[in-house]
Amino acid sequence: MKAQRNKTRVVNIGGVKIGGNNPVAVQSMAKTITADVRSTVAQIKRLEKINCEIIRVGVPDMAAALCLGKIKKQINIPLVADIHFQWQLAIEAINQGVDKIRINPGNMAKDKLAIILERAKARKIAIRIGVNSGSLKSLHENKKADKASLMVNALADYIRFFENAGFRNIVISLKATDVPATIKAYRIAAQKFDYPLHLGITEAGVAEAGIIKSSVGIGTLLAEGIGDTIRVSLTSEPEEEIKTAYAILQSLNLRNYYPEIISCPTCSRAQVDVITLANRIYKEMVSQPQATWKLPLKIAIMGCVVNGPGEAREADFGLAGGRKEGLLFRRGKIVSKIKEKDFYQALQKEIAKWHR
Ligand code: SF4
Repeated sequence: MKAQRNKTRVVNIGGVKIGGNNPVAVQSMAKTITADVRSTVAQIKRLEKINCEIIRVGVPDMAAALCLGKIKKQINIPLVADIHFQWQLAIEAINQGVDKIRINPGNMAKDKLAIILERAKARKIAIRIGVNSGSLKSLHENKKADKASLMVNALADYIRFFENAGFRNIVISLKATDVPATIKAYRIAAQKFDYPLHLGITEAGVAEAGIIKSSVGIGTLLAEGIGDTIRVSLTSEPEEEIKTAYAILQSLNLRNYYPEIISCPTCSRAQVDVITLANRIYKEMVSQPQATWKLPLKIAIMGCVVNGPGEAREADFGLAGGRKEGLLFRRGKIVSKIKEKDFYQALQKEIAKWHR
Protein backbone atom coordinates (compact mmCIF):
# COMPACT_ATOMS: atom_id res chain seq x y z
CA MET A 1 0.00 0.00 0.00
CA LYS A 2 1.19 3.53 -0.74
CA ALA A 3 -0.16 7.01 -0.15
CA GLN A 4 -2.18 8.83 -2.81
CA ARG A 5 0.28 11.34 -4.33
CA ASN A 6 -0.47 15.03 -4.05
CA LYS A 7 -1.21 16.41 -7.55
CA THR A 8 1.61 18.50 -8.99
CA ARG A 9 2.51 19.65 -12.48
CA VAL A 10 5.33 17.91 -14.34
CA VAL A 11 8.69 19.63 -14.74
CA ASN A 12 11.40 18.19 -16.98
CA ILE A 13 14.93 18.40 -15.60
CA GLY A 14 17.22 17.41 -18.46
CA GLY A 15 15.11 14.36 -19.32
CA VAL A 16 14.15 13.37 -15.76
CA LYS A 17 10.51 14.25 -15.21
CA ILE A 18 9.45 15.15 -11.71
CA GLY A 19 5.94 15.78 -10.43
CA GLY A 20 2.65 14.30 -11.60
CA ASN A 21 2.72 10.51 -11.45
CA ASN A 22 6.45 10.22 -12.08
CA PRO A 23 8.46 8.24 -9.52
CA VAL A 24 9.88 10.30 -6.67
CA ALA A 25 13.36 11.15 -8.02
CA VAL A 26 16.50 10.78 -5.90
CA GLN A 27 19.18 13.43 -5.97
CA SER A 28 22.34 14.48 -4.23
CA MET A 29 24.90 17.25 -4.26
CA ALA A 30 28.58 16.87 -5.16
CA LYS A 31 30.95 17.57 -2.27
CA THR A 32 34.02 18.32 -4.34
CA ILE A 33 35.39 21.70 -5.44
CA THR A 34 33.31 22.20 -8.58
CA ALA A 35 36.21 23.77 -10.49
CA ASP A 36 38.17 20.57 -9.89
CA VAL A 37 36.44 18.97 -12.84
CA ARG A 38 38.18 15.62 -12.59
CA SER A 39 37.22 15.01 -8.94
CA THR A 40 33.70 16.34 -9.45
CA VAL A 41 33.05 14.13 -12.46
CA ALA A 42 34.55 11.10 -10.66
CA GLN A 43 32.24 11.63 -7.69
CA ILE A 44 29.17 12.12 -9.91
CA LYS A 45 30.02 8.94 -11.85
CA ARG A 46 30.20 7.00 -8.58
CA LEU A 47 26.77 8.35 -7.68
CA GLU A 48 25.33 7.49 -11.10
CA LYS A 49 26.32 3.86 -10.46
CA ILE A 50 24.14 3.74 -7.35
CA ASN A 51 21.22 5.38 -9.12
CA CYS A 52 21.53 9.04 -8.27
CA GLU A 53 19.07 10.58 -10.73
CA ILE A 54 19.86 14.31 -10.52
CA ILE A 55 23.07 15.96 -9.30
CA ARG A 56 23.58 19.48 -7.99
CA VAL A 57 26.89 21.27 -7.74
CA GLY A 58 27.73 24.43 -5.84
CA VAL A 59 28.72 27.40 -7.99
CA PRO A 60 30.47 29.80 -5.61
CA ASP A 61 32.44 31.74 -8.23
CA MET A 62 33.02 32.27 -11.94
CA ALA A 63 35.76 29.63 -12.03
CA ALA A 64 33.16 27.04 -10.99
CA ALA A 65 30.53 28.40 -13.40
CA LEU A 66 32.95 28.19 -16.32
CA CYS A 67 33.56 24.47 -15.63
CA LEU A 68 29.90 23.42 -15.76
CA GLY A 69 29.89 22.66 -19.49
CA LYS A 70 32.91 20.37 -19.14
CA ILE A 71 31.28 18.54 -16.25
CA LYS A 72 27.96 18.22 -18.08
CA LYS A 73 29.66 16.65 -21.12
CA GLN A 74 31.16 13.86 -19.01
CA ILE A 75 28.13 12.80 -16.95
CA ASN A 76 24.86 11.07 -17.77
CA ILE A 77 22.45 12.60 -15.26
CA PRO A 78 20.91 16.10 -15.18
CA LEU A 79 23.16 18.79 -13.75
CA VAL A 80 21.80 21.48 -11.41
CA ALA A 81 23.71 24.66 -10.55
CA ASP A 82 23.33 25.94 -7.00
CA ILE A 83 23.55 29.73 -7.13
CA HIS A 84 23.58 32.25 -4.30
CA PHE A 85 24.10 36.02 -4.29
CA GLN A 86 25.62 36.52 -7.76
CA TRP A 87 23.11 36.58 -10.62
CA GLN A 88 25.95 36.55 -13.19
CA LEU A 89 26.83 33.02 -12.10
CA ALA A 90 23.30 31.87 -12.95
CA ILE A 91 23.57 33.41 -16.41
CA GLU A 92 26.91 31.70 -17.00
CA ALA A 93 25.52 28.38 -15.71
CA ILE A 94 22.65 28.63 -18.18
CA ASN A 95 25.11 29.44 -20.97
CA GLN A 96 27.14 26.38 -19.98
CA GLY A 97 24.06 24.17 -20.54
CA VAL A 98 22.98 23.12 -17.04
CA ASP A 99 19.55 21.50 -16.69
CA LYS A 100 18.26 23.48 -13.73
CA ILE A 101 19.20 26.42 -11.55
CA ARG A 102 18.58 26.53 -7.81
CA ILE A 103 18.29 29.99 -6.34
CA ASN A 104 17.54 31.08 -2.80
CA PRO A 105 15.00 33.90 -2.35
CA GLY A 106 16.81 35.02 0.79
CA ASN A 107 19.84 36.20 -1.12
CA MET A 108 18.93 37.15 -4.67
CA ALA A 109 17.65 40.62 -5.60
CA LYS A 110 14.49 40.59 -7.72
CA ASP A 111 15.73 42.95 -10.43
CA LYS A 112 18.62 40.55 -11.07
CA LEU A 113 16.32 37.59 -10.87
CA ALA A 114 14.27 39.03 -13.74
CA ILE A 115 17.33 38.74 -15.99
CA ILE A 116 17.85 35.10 -14.95
CA LEU A 117 14.18 34.28 -15.60
CA GLU A 118 14.34 35.68 -19.09
CA ARG A 119 17.42 33.64 -19.95
CA ALA A 120 16.10 30.43 -18.33
CA LYS A 121 12.81 30.81 -20.18
CA ALA A 122 14.63 31.15 -23.51
CA ARG A 123 16.62 27.97 -22.78
CA LYS A 124 13.61 26.10 -21.25
CA ILE A 125 15.51 25.50 -18.00
CA ALA A 126 13.67 24.92 -14.73
CA ILE A 127 14.45 26.92 -11.62
CA ARG A 128 14.09 25.67 -8.06
CA ILE A 129 13.03 28.32 -5.62
CA GLY A 130 14.82 26.91 -2.61
CA VAL A 131 13.74 28.65 0.57
CA ASN A 132 16.14 27.94 3.39
CA SER A 133 15.25 29.08 6.91
CA GLY A 134 18.88 29.98 7.64
CA SER A 135 18.94 32.74 5.04
CA LEU A 136 15.50 34.28 5.65
CA LYS A 137 15.92 37.88 6.81
CA SER A 138 12.32 38.04 8.11
CA LEU A 139 13.13 35.18 10.47
CA HIS A 140 16.25 36.83 11.87
CA GLU A 141 14.28 40.05 12.42
CA ASN A 142 11.40 38.31 14.19
CA LYS A 143 12.63 35.25 16.06
CA LYS A 144 9.22 34.59 17.65
CA ALA A 145 7.38 34.39 14.33
CA ASP A 146 6.14 31.07 13.00
CA LYS A 147 9.04 29.71 10.97
CA ALA A 148 6.90 27.65 8.59
CA SER A 149 4.58 30.56 7.76
CA LEU A 150 7.50 32.91 7.14
CA MET A 151 9.11 30.37 4.82
CA VAL A 152 5.89 29.88 2.85
CA ASN A 153 5.32 33.66 2.67
CA ALA A 154 8.80 34.16 1.22
CA LEU A 155 8.13 31.38 -1.27
CA ALA A 156 4.71 32.79 -2.24
CA ASP A 157 6.26 36.19 -2.84
CA TYR A 158 8.82 34.70 -5.24
CA ILE A 159 6.32 32.46 -6.98
CA ARG A 160 4.19 35.55 -7.67
CA PHE A 161 7.23 37.28 -9.09
CA PHE A 162 8.06 34.30 -11.32
CA GLU A 163 4.46 33.94 -12.51
CA ASN A 164 4.16 37.66 -13.27
CA ALA A 165 7.22 37.24 -15.45
CA GLY A 166 5.41 34.36 -17.21
CA PHE A 167 7.79 31.76 -15.74
CA ARG A 168 6.19 28.52 -14.51
CA ASN A 169 8.99 26.02 -15.00
CA ILE A 170 9.34 25.94 -11.22
CA VAL A 171 10.30 23.42 -8.53
CA ILE A 172 9.98 24.48 -4.91
CA SER A 173 11.61 23.59 -1.61
CA LEU A 174 11.26 24.83 1.95
CA LYS A 175 14.09 23.49 4.03
CA ALA A 176 14.85 24.03 7.70
CA THR A 177 16.90 22.07 10.20
CA ASP A 178 13.81 21.97 12.43
CA VAL A 179 11.81 18.90 11.38
CA PRO A 180 8.32 19.98 12.58
CA ALA A 181 8.74 23.43 10.97
CA THR A 182 9.82 21.82 7.69
CA ILE A 183 6.89 19.41 7.71
CA LYS A 184 4.45 22.24 8.44
CA ALA A 185 5.89 24.45 5.70
CA TYR A 186 5.67 21.71 3.06
CA ARG A 187 2.11 20.83 4.09
CA ILE A 188 1.01 24.43 3.60
CA ALA A 189 2.90 24.72 0.31
CA ALA A 190 1.39 21.48 -1.00
CA GLN A 191 -2.08 22.93 -0.48
CA LYS A 192 -1.27 26.32 -1.96
CA PHE A 193 0.80 25.51 -5.04
CA ASP A 194 0.88 22.81 -7.68
CA TYR A 195 4.59 23.03 -8.50
CA PRO A 196 6.65 19.88 -7.83
CA LEU A 197 8.15 19.72 -4.37
CA HIS A 198 11.79 18.96 -3.68
CA LEU A 199 11.93 17.58 -0.12
CA GLY A 200 14.80 17.74 2.32
CA ILE A 201 15.80 18.49 5.87
CA THR A 202 18.67 20.88 5.52
CA GLU A 203 21.95 20.34 7.36
CA ALA A 204 20.47 17.24 8.98
CA GLY A 205 23.78 16.32 10.59
CA VAL A 206 26.19 13.41 10.79
CA ALA A 207 25.58 9.72 10.24
CA GLU A 208 22.73 8.16 12.22
CA ALA A 209 21.42 11.45 13.61
CA GLY A 210 21.10 12.94 10.14
CA ILE A 211 19.59 9.77 8.72
CA ILE A 212 16.95 9.68 11.46
CA LYS A 213 16.08 13.36 11.11
CA SER A 214 15.80 13.07 7.33
CA SER A 215 13.80 9.86 7.51
CA VAL A 216 11.30 11.33 9.95
CA GLY A 217 10.92 14.63 8.08
CA ILE A 218 10.98 13.40 4.49
CA GLY A 219 9.18 10.15 5.39
CA THR A 220 6.29 11.93 7.13
CA LEU A 221 5.64 14.08 4.08
CA LEU A 222 5.99 11.26 1.57
CA ALA A 223 3.60 9.14 3.65
CA GLU A 224 1.05 11.93 3.15
CA GLY A 225 1.63 11.91 -0.60
CA ILE A 226 3.70 15.12 -0.54
CA GLY A 227 6.99 15.29 -2.44
CA ASP A 228 8.26 14.70 -5.98
CA THR A 229 12.02 14.54 -5.53
CA ILE A 230 14.17 14.11 -2.42
CA ARG A 231 17.65 14.96 -1.28
CA VAL A 232 18.98 13.65 2.01
CA SER A 233 21.60 16.12 3.36
CA LEU A 234 24.20 14.33 5.44
CA THR A 235 27.58 15.40 6.78
CA SER A 236 28.93 12.30 5.14
CA GLU A 237 29.81 10.86 1.75
CA PRO A 238 27.11 11.51 -0.90
CA GLU A 239 26.76 7.75 -1.42
CA GLU A 240 25.17 7.62 2.05
CA GLU A 241 22.64 10.23 0.97
CA ILE A 242 21.57 8.13 -2.01
CA LYS A 243 21.33 4.90 0.00
CA THR A 244 19.28 6.63 2.70
CA ALA A 245 16.98 8.26 0.14
CA TYR A 246 16.21 4.91 -1.49
CA ALA A 247 15.70 3.26 1.89
CA ILE A 248 13.15 5.96 2.82
CA LEU A 249 11.32 5.53 -0.49
CA GLN A 250 11.39 1.76 -0.23
CA SER A 251 9.97 1.78 3.29
CA LEU A 252 6.91 3.59 1.87
CA ASN A 253 6.64 1.33 -1.20
CA LEU A 254 7.46 4.29 -3.46
CA ARG A 255 10.60 2.85 -5.09
CA ASN A 256 12.06 -0.61 -5.08
CA TYR A 257 15.83 -0.57 -4.78
CA TYR A 258 17.06 -3.05 -2.17
CA PRO A 259 16.02 -6.56 -1.30
CA GLU A 260 13.85 -6.34 1.77
CA ILE A 261 15.07 -8.09 4.92
CA ILE A 262 12.48 -9.21 7.40
CA SER A 263 14.33 -10.17 10.58
CA CYS A 264 13.03 -10.66 14.07
CA PRO A 265 14.55 -8.66 16.94
CA THR A 266 15.33 -11.99 18.71
CA CYS A 267 14.49 -12.72 22.32
CA SER A 268 14.99 -15.47 24.90
CA ARG A 269 13.26 -17.98 22.60
CA ALA A 270 15.90 -17.65 19.86
CA GLN A 271 18.31 -20.59 19.69
CA VAL A 272 20.24 -19.28 16.72
CA ASP A 273 22.23 -16.06 16.30
CA VAL A 274 19.80 -13.98 14.25
CA ILE A 275 21.63 -10.69 14.84
CA THR A 276 24.92 -11.86 13.29
CA LEU A 277 23.26 -13.58 10.35
CA ALA A 278 20.83 -10.75 9.50
CA ASN A 279 23.59 -8.13 9.72
CA ARG A 280 25.92 -10.21 7.57
CA ILE A 281 23.24 -10.65 4.92
CA TYR A 282 22.51 -6.92 5.01
CA LYS A 283 26.16 -5.88 4.72
CA GLU A 284 27.42 -8.47 2.26
CA MET A 285 24.37 -9.10 0.15
CA VAL A 286 21.75 -6.40 0.45
CA SER A 287 23.49 -3.03 0.60
CA GLN A 288 24.86 -3.48 -2.91
CA PRO A 289 23.97 -1.54 -6.06
CA GLN A 290 20.55 -2.29 -7.47
CA ALA A 291 21.95 -3.76 -10.69
CA THR A 292 22.93 -6.94 -8.86
CA TRP A 293 19.36 -7.78 -7.82
CA LYS A 294 16.17 -9.02 -9.41
CA LEU A 295 13.59 -7.05 -7.48
CA PRO A 296 11.35 -7.25 -5.57
CA LEU A 297 13.16 -9.72 -3.34
CA LYS A 298 12.18 -10.47 0.26
CA ILE A 299 14.48 -12.39 2.63
CA ALA A 300 13.27 -13.43 6.09
CA ILE A 301 15.60 -14.35 8.98
CA MET A 302 13.63 -15.50 12.02
CA GLY A 303 14.72 -16.83 15.39
CA CYS A 304 12.17 -19.46 16.40
CA VAL A 305 8.93 -21.25 15.66
CA VAL A 306 6.66 -18.48 17.03
CA ASN A 307 6.60 -16.32 13.88
CA GLY A 308 9.50 -17.94 12.04
CA PRO A 309 7.92 -20.44 9.67
CA GLY A 310 5.08 -18.03 8.81
CA GLU A 311 7.36 -15.14 7.85
CA ALA A 312 9.92 -17.41 6.16
CA ARG A 313 7.15 -18.94 4.04
CA GLU A 314 5.82 -15.50 3.03
CA ALA A 315 9.25 -14.31 1.84
CA ASP A 316 11.04 -15.30 -1.37
CA PHE A 317 13.76 -16.89 0.78
CA GLY A 318 13.49 -17.52 4.49
CA LEU A 319 15.20 -19.11 7.42
CA ALA A 320 13.25 -20.15 10.49
CA GLY A 321 15.56 -20.96 13.38
CA GLY A 322 15.27 -23.94 15.72
CA ARG A 323 17.77 -25.55 18.13
CA LYS A 324 21.12 -24.59 16.47
CA GLU A 325 19.58 -25.41 13.13
CA GLY A 326 16.85 -24.03 10.91
CA LEU A 327 14.46 -24.62 8.05
CA LEU A 328 15.33 -23.00 4.74
CA PHE A 329 12.34 -21.89 2.66
CA ARG A 330 12.19 -20.94 -1.00
CA ARG A 331 8.98 -19.31 -2.22
CA GLY A 332 6.85 -20.82 0.54
CA LYS A 333 8.30 -24.34 0.37
CA ILE A 334 10.81 -26.01 2.68
CA VAL A 335 14.07 -26.66 0.81
CA SER A 336 16.08 -28.30 3.59
CA LYS A 337 16.96 -28.42 7.25
CA ILE A 338 20.41 -26.89 7.79
CA LYS A 339 22.93 -26.44 10.59
CA GLU A 340 23.35 -22.94 11.98
CA LYS A 341 26.97 -22.73 10.80
CA ASP A 342 25.77 -23.24 7.20
CA PHE A 343 22.94 -20.66 7.24
CA TYR A 344 24.72 -17.89 5.32
CA GLN A 345 26.17 -20.11 2.56
CA ALA A 346 22.89 -21.99 2.12
CA LEU A 347 20.90 -18.78 1.69
CA GLN A 348 23.50 -17.28 -0.60
CA LYS A 349 23.44 -20.41 -2.78
CA GLU A 350 19.66 -20.43 -3.06
CA ILE A 351 19.50 -16.74 -3.98
CA ALA A 352 22.32 -17.13 -6.52
CA LYS A 353 20.40 -20.02 -8.19
CA TRP A 354 17.35 -17.79 -8.49
CA HIS A 355 19.43 -15.05 -10.10
CA ARG A 356 20.84 -17.27 -12.81
S1 SF4 B 1 10.57 -14.94 16.16
FE1 SF4 B 1 10.97 -16.05 18.05
S2 SF4 B 1 13.04 -15.49 18.59
FE2 SF4 B 1 12.35 -13.97 17.13
S3 SF4 B 1 11.55 -12.36 18.42
FE3 SF4 B 1 9.83 -13.63 17.82
S4 SF4 B 1 9.63 -15.05 19.52
FE4 SF4 B 1 11.66 -14.14 19.72
